[in-house]
Amino acid sequence: MSDCIFCKIAAHEIGAQIVYEDDEVMAFEDANPQLPVHTLIIPKAHYAHIGDAVPPELLGQLFSKVGVVAGLKGVDGDGYRVVVNTGEDGRQTVHHLHIHVLGGAQMPIRMGPAD
Ligand code: 5GP
Ligand code: ZN
Repeated sequence: MSDCIFCKIAAHEIGAQIVYEDDEVMAFEDANPQLPVHTLIIPKAHYAHIGDAVPPELLGQLFSKVGVVAGLKGVDGDGYRVVVNTGEDGRQTVHHLHIHVLGGAQMPIRMGPAD
């Protein structure tokens, strides 16, 4: 997609701090990190969101890189959060499927029932 910022990053048309790259997948640092480690993992091909008929094999390739990125970023020991914002209610702002890997400090929001 010509007007998609993540397609342009995937094509090396605009810069990003690349953490991991292969033929299908790229991981790069979020431009506005919410925690000390905030890396995005994308398929190089354009899919608007996780429900956009993404081939299962590609989803496997994408999610298999979560642990790889966590290791490269040094958060595999202490843990991290994986987030896939989807659509308006999910507050997705870039409409090219991406996985957030967040860590390096405790998450500010605890998910689940209140204490
Ligand atoms: P979303 O809210 O769609 O799940 O997250 C989009 C993320 O992409 C945000 O965390 C935002 O900081 C990041 N982002 C937006 N534009 C750019 C960009 O041009 N380069 C990089 N590296 N990250 C971006
Ligand atoms: Zn795109």
